[in-house]
Amino acid sequence: MSEQVDAVVVGAGVVGLACAYALSQKLDSVVVIERDVGPGREISSRNSGVIHAGIYYPNDSLKTRLCIEGNRRLYEWCETHEVPYKRTGKLIVATSPHDEERLQAIARHAKEVGAADLQLLTGAEARQQEPELRCALALHSPSSGVVDVHELIASLVREIKEAGGAVVYHTGVEAIRKSRDGWIVQTTDTTGSEAELHTKRIVNAAGLSALDVAAKSGLRDGQCPWRLYPCKGSYFALGPGAPPTRNSLLYPLPEGGGLGVHITTDISGARRAGPDAEFVDVIDYSVDESRAEQFAEAVARYLPAIRPEHLTPDYSGIRPKLVGPAGGFADFVIADPASQPGVIHLIGIESPGLTASLAIGARVSDVIG
Ligand SMILES: Cc1cc2nc3c(=O)[nH]c(=O)nc-3n(C[C@H](O)[C@H](O)[C@H](O)COP(=O)(O)OP(=O)(O)OC[C@H]3O[C@@H](n4cnc5c(N)ncnc54)[C@H](O)[C@@H]3O)c2cc1C
Repeated sequence: MSEQVDAVVVGAGVVGLACAYALSQKLDSVVVIERDVGPGREISSRNSGVIHAGIYYPNDSLKTRLCIEGNRRLYEWCETHEVPYKRTGKLIVATSPHDEERLQAIARHAKEVGAADLQLLTGAEARQQEPELRCALALHSPSSGVVDVHELIASLVREIKEAGGAVVYHTGVEAIRKSRDGWIVQTTDTTGSEAELHTKRIVNAAGLSALDVAAKSGLRDGQCPWRLYPCKGSYFALGPGAPPTRNSLLYPLPEGGGLGVHITTDISGARRAGPDAEFVDVIDYSVDESRAEQFAEAVARYLPAIRPEHLTPDYSGIRPKLVGPAGGFADFVIADPASQPGVIHLIGIESPGLTASLAIGARVSDVIG
């Protein structure tokens, strides 16, 4: 089978769908190709579901700009598409003098990047919001919240179809090659049936497989300097007897490649602790029960009444990190190589990619739409 379409998006995670949505507002036939049985089954459904405020990253980075823009777009989307969300607010807490200095620096930085609504609270003020909390200083971010990720993904799929686009499951992109006036995307579905899509525009939003897809498109070493370091984050559910918390999202200071083991309460009211950060070689989503002790220790720094027996293994997700255990900052990569006109590769779209998704979609559509 061979078909001509206006754009092909590889991957039906929240980022690929947001790109397809934005493109479908300008183009007639946008097709999302997804190898899995449904949308958002990799990174997009294995995260904290937090709508971030964009306060941790360097001033002029894509992470900052797209997170701040994405935060606004996402709340608007939730309102207009009836996606459940809560503007819970978030407390980042300092539990040692060293942390207090770091938190003051984060507060100053947040102001610089334009997050003017943040407020430093004393420990006593923070405890008025969350009585079980132990901290000397806290930073309150009122524009942080949580979203029902599954409903968000379903709403994006609905809108793409309504605009005339399609989302095709059980189908992998096997090769991408140049044609006389564009590109040919070669796919194989789970029955072994092959097809070719002819197009002028391709978005590689393959998450953990983005570099594989880039290689399939012929992007060679010199033009593809990136490497992905999968970094697993596990979650434990807070069960009966766990110290009560109100609505807030409770975060320590960022550490070890993640934002620190935090406490979130999702839309249904379920509370969990996580994620930690563990660099891995294989994709294995099982959660190691024996880590409950470590988790309790991490959370007890700010919620002292937590015990390992309050925690049960829940789920895990894997971050497509562009830096390894040595750390350092790496920005989102939105690459449109000169050698591949009409093609965009999205690489290293870890947190805050969920928050930034609609802003990434708008950016991609501006470049190739
Ligand atoms: C533990 C954890 C916590 C996080 N917490 C937050 C948070 O609270 N807030 C926030 O803003 N962000 C958070 N993030 C980041 C956010 O979840 C991601 O940035 C976002 O979900 C990435 O979406 P994606 O569409 O790029 O990737 P994915 O959702 O992984 O989608 C990629 C898709 O491509 C498909 N695919 C791959 N190769 C092919 C192929 N060859 N052919 C067809 N299909 C293919 C895959 O099957 C997959 O469905 C977190 C991430 C993790 C791991």
